[in-house]
Formats: sequence, C-alpha cells, structure tokens
Amino acid sequence: MPKRNQIQHLWDSCIQFFYPGSCPACGQRLLGDEQLLCSPCLSRLACTGHESMETNPLETRMKAHLPLQRAAALLRFTQTGVAQKLLHQLKYHHRPEIGQFLGRLGGQKFAGHPVLKEADCIVPVPLHPAKQKQRGYNQSMMIASGLNEARKIEIRADLIVKTEASNSQTRKNRLSRWENIRQSFALDPRCQQDANLRNRHFLVVDDVVTTGATAVSCCRELLQLPGARVSFFAVAHPE
Ligand SMILES: [Zn+2]
Repeated sequence: MPKRNQIQHLWDSCIQFFYPGSCPACGQRLLGDEQLLCSPCLSRLACTGHESMETNPLETRMKAHLPLQRAAALLRFTQTGVAQKLLHQLKYHHRPEIGQFLGRLGGQKFAGHPVLKEADCIVPVPLHPAKQKQRGYNQSMMIASGLNEARKIEIRADLIVKTEASNSQTRKNRLSRWENIRQSFALDPRCQQDANLRNRHFLVVDDVVTTGATAVSCCRELLQLPGARVSFFAVAHPE
C-alpha cells in the first residue's frame, strides 16, 4: 500500500501536469515572462534588507552563542506571507525548484555581501537520511545550488550528519529542545583528517531559522575543524 507521502507526491505531480505554469504561492496561472512566481507575489516578497545593513538582528542573536563571521537572511518570515507559502511548498509538496529559485534570488541580492563573498565552501544543513528519502531531496541543498549560480564555490553536503530524527520536540521545554537539537548533528569524523578542509570559511545554509538552535549547532560542529571560520545564510527569518 502506498505511503501517505507517495500519494502526496503523485497528487503534486498531477497538479503540475495539468497546471504546469501556476504560481506556488497563490495558484494563479503564470504569464509569459514570469518565472516560477507570479509578479504580484514576487512584489509581495518581504525582503529583510540585510544585504545593505552593517549588521542585522539574526547575526547579533547568533553571535551571542558562537564566534561567527557573518549571518544574514533573504526574506522576512510571517505565518501568512509569501515566504511561508513558498517554503511550505518546497518542503511538503515536492517542489525542489522553489529552493533553487530562492537560492538564486539570495545569490543575486547577496553577491556583494561578505556573507557570500568571503565564504569558500557552502554546507547545506542536513536532513536525517530517513526524512531525506521520504522528501526525495534536501531543501537546503536546493537553496545551496541556487546560491552557487551567483557565486561558484564548492558545496559539501557530506561534512555534517543528522544523527537523530528528533520529531517529538513540541513536548519538550525550550532548554531541552536546544539540547536535543545540539546533540542531533555531528561532524563526520573523516573530516578531521582531510587537509583540504583546513583554514576554510564555511557558509552554512538553511531554509528558515526560528529558534536558531539548528543553525548554531551546525556552525559549532564545523568550528571543530582546524582554522575554520563559519558564516550562516537562511532564506527566511522571522523579525
Ligand atoms: Zn502568485
């Protein structure tokens, strides 16, 4: 018997087949020159403006937890905004191209910003292997490949592993949720021996940053590498 996610993928594929050019945020049919998103939704995308700020709230918050170089996000995340709709489609409705679209947009906006300019290796936040198999792709990897179109730097999806699925977090209090996330990421032990990974500037990439626990944990794992510097980029941040 097919699993629920397979039925969902099949349904999404049918929708795509019959309505190939519909906007993933509002469902309206796309016009000739519109790429993925319709013009009204594109104009409603709420940008953070981090690319023109000296520092920003996300960077300040993360620097309280670890020695970070830079952090930035492309869009402001609200529960009813276009960014939320896009990220929901990306994660739960088998639309990997949305990740590439958002990454490309981030690459264009941040091409001259240190968060992208100074990094020399992109590290997408990993999914647990079971989750990735179920989804069919890692959405952060899709965003990374979009970013890579603006600035060609190495992408390494094999440095950090997600060791626990950690899906019962809603029942935990805030502190133990942080602890739980901290323990669920690990640096692949083979990295420590790899001379190519010394003195690198890693850019950790995620879809949406909420508590910041995932971002901080992944950055902290990479900081174990000799001479490592770490920055962080997310598509969306609630602020
Ligand atoms: Zn639209």
